Amino acid sequence: MRYTTYGKTGLSVSRLGFGAMRLPANETPDGKEQVDYDKSTPLIRRALELGVNFIDTHHNYHYSQSEIAIGLALEGLDRSKVIIQTKNPTWKDLAEGETYRQRLEDGLKRAKTDYFDIYFLHSLSWQTFEKVGDEFMKMALQAKEEGLIRHIGFSTHDKYEGIVKIVDTGLFECMLCQYNLLDLSNEKAIGYAHAKGLGVSVMGPVGGGRLATPNELARFMPAGQSSPVEAALRFVWDNPGVDSAVSGMSTIEQVEENVKTVDIAAPLTDAERARIVEIREEKKKLADLYCTGCGYCMPCPNGVNIPRVFEYMNWVRVYGFAESAAREHYVWMRNRGSDASKCVECGQCEPKCPQKIQIIKQLAESHKVLS
Ligand code: SF4
Ligand code: SF4
Repeated sequence: MRYTTYGKTGLSVSRLGFGAMRLPANETPDGKEQVDYDKSTPLIRRALELGVNFIDTHHNYHYSQSEIAIGLALEGLDRSKVIIQTKNPTWKDLAEGETYRQRLEDGLKRAKTDYFDIYFLHSLSWQTFEKVGDEFMKMALQAKEEGLIRHIGFSTHDKYEGIVKIVDTGLFECMLCQYNLLDLSNEKAIGYAHAKGLGVSVMGPVGGGRLATPNELARFMPAGQSSPVEAALRFVWDNPGVDSAVSGMSTIEQVEENVKTVDIAAPLTDAERARIVEIREEKKKLADLYCTGCGYCMPCPNGVNIPRVFEYMNWVRVYGFAESAAREHYVWMRNRGSDASKCVECGQCEPKCPQKIQIIKQLAESHKVLS
């Protein structure tokens, strides 16, 4: 395993992080999910055994069972050897009587630990920071003083400008954002955060599973040079701003394959990099026929994030990957109230689209596919 210093935290993290959001789980009779702890414990332990020392989780992953699974897996092990990064969903309004502190304490109890190494404001945008930043930071700094958390960071889906403002507050030691072969939207932000001394971990390095579709991804690399997963991970690690790639792993085979990749991963060759650019451009041209993401149609008075809906639709329609990742992201949009179901067909957006896209019709179709 290879390790690197996670920015200002000073922690030495494995370059492969264990994303605890795809743990083995079963469906309960009422349609929810129940993590299979008999499987998740050996899974997490195998990752640790192979040198992964960095686990990323969240207050709500797997209906809050992810933190429980981590606690169970770490029972009897040396806690100081494992770095747990978890997140408080600060974008979600506090329920009546709920506090950020209570969310933290609940997480600690679930994970059966006295402290979290890294505590995040989850999915932070500049807008949310302006709204809840003071209250959260007051709680977090107090908790840090008490030893309940050791470092404070944020995860984000915000635009570059928003991320820069958050980084420039000087309050954070590390950040997590999406980054993979197909989604370079955070490349500049990663470079900025890294230059400012923040540790950077990235999620979705193998595209939430979709890039791991062998037939498609294999095309990104010259024949025989890389397995699909290896190609995706090598691409991410090739960015000097990325400290750790957090990959959601569900089976011991995935853990072993990913770990093997860290050990053998060489920097991308010029031919491989050129091939990636070529395929990405080819796909982008096709995707642009549907939507270039220019945003001229925005804002929608009803809060629909039109380009984002079409982006997820393109994951299915253009890139031909499994729909599951697109659907997962779409759920996130629904939770935020920016999905296509909010369209009331007022028609304000359509005349503004240079691609002459029938936005209303396309939104309805996308909603059907992504829901
Ligand atoms: S037609 Fe729908 S998506 Fe377009 S502006 Fe109106 S509500 Fe928004
Ligand atoms: S204006 Fe058209 S091309 Fe641009 S983001 Fe909106 S739907 Fe896509």
